[in-house]
Amino acid sequence: MTYPHPAMAIYPIRTFGDPVLRQTAQPVTEFDADLEHLVEDMLESMYDAPGVGLAAPQIGISKRVFVYDIGEGPGAMINPEIVETSGTYEFDEGCLSVPGHFWPITRPEYARVAGFDVDGQAIELEGDELMGRMLQHEVDHLHGTLLIKRLERDLRIEFMREWRKAQL
Ligand code: ZN
Repeated sequence: MTYPHPAMAIYPIRTFGDPVLRQTAQPVTEFDADLEHLVEDMLESMYDAPGVGLAAPQIGISKRVFVYDIGEGPGAMINPEIVETSGTYEFDEGCLSVPGHFWPITRPEYARVAGFDVDGQAIELEGDELMGRMLQHEVDHLHGTLLIKRLERDLRIEFMREWRKAQL
């Protein structure tokens, strides 16, 4: 007897204004089949969007998980913490939860992040430029921080004005 492969699901991406995006995500405590399934669904949702990174709150799940693929293959990290950053780097940054916008945002160029893989093994990820940017952006999501908070004041005010108008 064979068991059917559990169907993967593509989740809709939550967008700015959804309260789940402002919550602090909860640490993962069980490294089980449900977690593996969540990571698969997140990767599927990220590729469908498409994006180079996706944090669990973006699909409405307030857990400390993100997935990524900056063009070198898929990966996932559980309970990540930034342990080191250096340099400064301006980059046109976008977010699947704020669709249609890219803004120049200055952040550290290099980041190193410690966490766990889907099996609960301790791992580290590091990189500069796009990788460093993705790591910082996804960890921000797990703290309930969107890139809007990282914008220069004028750009933030302009976006908020535009966003409020679109809600009417
Ligand atoms: Zn994002």
